[in-house]
Amino acid sequence: MSYQSPDILSANAKKILNDYINNVDSLKAKDRLKIPPQEMPAQDPIIRGQNLEEVAIGYTMEEARVEALRCLECVKQTCIDGCPVKIDIPRFIKHIAYGEFQQSVNVIKEASLLPAICGRVCPQESQCQENCKVGIAMKDVDKSVAIGRLERFVADWEREQGTVKIPHVKSETGKKVAIVGSGPAGLVVAADVRREGHEVTIFEAFHKLGGVMRYGIPEFRLPNSIVDEEIETLIKMGVKIQKNYVVGRTRKLTDLIDKDGFDAVFVGTGAGLPLFMGIEGENLVGVFSANEYLTRANLMRAFDKKGADTPIYPSKIVAVLGGGNVAMDSARMALRLGAEKVYVIYRRTEVEMPARKEEVLHAKEEGIEFHFLQNAKKILGDEKGKVKGMECLRYELGEPDSSGRRRPVVVEGSEFTIELDTVIVAIGNGSNPLIHQTTPELQTNKWGNIIVDKNQKSSMDKVFAGGDIVLGAATVILAMGEGRKAAAAINEMLAQKLA
Ligand SMILES: Cc1cc2nc3c(=O)[nH]c(=O)nc-3n(C[C@H](O)[C@H](O)[C@H](O)COP(=O)(O)OP(=O)(O)OC[C@H]3O[C@@H](n4cnc5c(N)ncnc54)[C@H](O)[C@@H]3O)c2cc1C
Ligand code: SF4
Repeated sequence: MSYQSPDILSANAKKILNDYINNVDSLKAKDRLKIPPQEMPAQDPIIRGQNLEEVAIGYTMEEARVEALRCLECVKQTCIDGCPVKIDIPRFIKHIAYGEFQQSVNVIKEASLLPAICGRVCPQESQCQENCKVGIAMKDVDKSVAIGRLERFVADWEREQGTVKIPHVKSETGKKVAIVGSGPAGLVVAADVRREGHEVTIFEAFHKLGGVMRYGIPEFRLPNSIVDEEIETLIKMGVKIQKNYVVGRTRKLTDLIDKDGFDAVFVGTGAGLPLFMGIEGENLVGVFSANEYLTRANLMRAFDKKGADTPIYPSKIVAVLGGGNVAMDSARMALRLGAEKVYVIYRRTEVEMPARKEEVLHAKEEGIEFHFLQNAKKILGDEKGKVKGMECLRYELGEPDSSGRRRPVVVEGSEFTIELDTVIVAIGNGSNPLIHQTTPELQTNKWGNIIVDKNQKSSMDKVFAGGDIVLGAATVILAMGEGRKAAAAINEMLAQKLA
């Protein structure tokens, strides 16, 4: 689909809503299926490639209501089956159709604590929207009801109205809970445990909170102000925060329990250990892990070329290796940091790419070049040890592998060289080994992920875990879902002790 300006999209939606506004109650499924899907308004691709402001602008009221009218209010609500936290999707959408935005956001909050975040970054097309009957009827998941965009709309609407309520906190119980890591898993546990009146302290290794939502996902997809507001709410609830505190180094996990008197600990330390290709030249100057690149840009403000203490390596031609969301974010960030050309090099085809379709489309609109069925063989350096090029190989697709995707097979003798000065490796992350190394009694699997039972309880007494440190690199909503389960189990354990 080609780019359409927000003004045109808004004018179209106003007209459609006018046509339907008086007969909302009598709309039949066949009428609803005729309503055109509402595209997400976005910044102009040329302009946004040079700024860090949010690319997707968000629906207007009219766009949201028109999109909500597309929902068939199905009896068998397959969309809910696809939602990891089981939001009552048809109910929240129906409120939007009638312009009842506060009621709508209240429905979402029964199940999800961070709708402004999930509405922006959840992979809806492979969850709720994949199961939507509208998309199924139209044989195109992109034509499903835009559940995520609607979620974002009402969450933003509530924030703009200033009606976000601070959750009620019960009277103090005298029990203390430590949360290690301030990503979505940790934040959700903090809120749910604090609500029960327990004292909660978040320990975070970095100087800022939010985990990958802050230092991984760039501002042009998830503004920091939204993460800040969630944290502000926790502070208002009385959650205590200890930054620059590396559990395992500053203090061991067992010390929190044995010496500091915490009654329960939740470990939500994520999967922040970058994986590399293991090819020649990866130690050259100008090769970055996506983690380092994005952390420098997002957390250390490297894009602020005059003001930042740690400005980033200047790049003209950048290759990003990988095909997931992390690769898309790195490529688009490289463009915004001033690169003249950015290639994404992926060894399968676009069909197998794990990145969200919307992000791939946005990257293409911004001018990122995609090179499919290719991969790096070695990175080439100059006499000063700086990257000057990359030798690549061409691939073709074979049979599906264990991931279900068709296996890339090297085309023998297909080597070719490209010139570039920067390589960003974005092929995945493993779990950080620190807590495991310093707490040997904590059982982990062969990838270093913490082993938990169905209540997120680890092998250690009083210690729970969830999010990427349990699942391996996953998603915000799955991390949140695990956080909610862990919080429920911690609350139950502490309630028994208090009884
Ligand atoms: C670039 C990028 C883009 C992504 N895009 C998406 C997307 O579009 N949609 C989506 O759903 N998911 C996306 N993800 C994945 C998603 O962000 C993660 O699945 C999610 O953040 C995991 O949450 P978590 O709470 O488990 O851990 P994290 O968010 O990783 O947070 C862990 C926190 O623990 C802290 N920590 C680690 N060790 C210690 C320690 N020893 N002591 C104290 N603190 C510690 C870390 O500093 C960090 O703040 C993306 C990931 C990346 C890297
Ligand atoms: S499956 Fe789609 S159309 Fe049906 S209730 Fe859910 S969102 Fe609405």
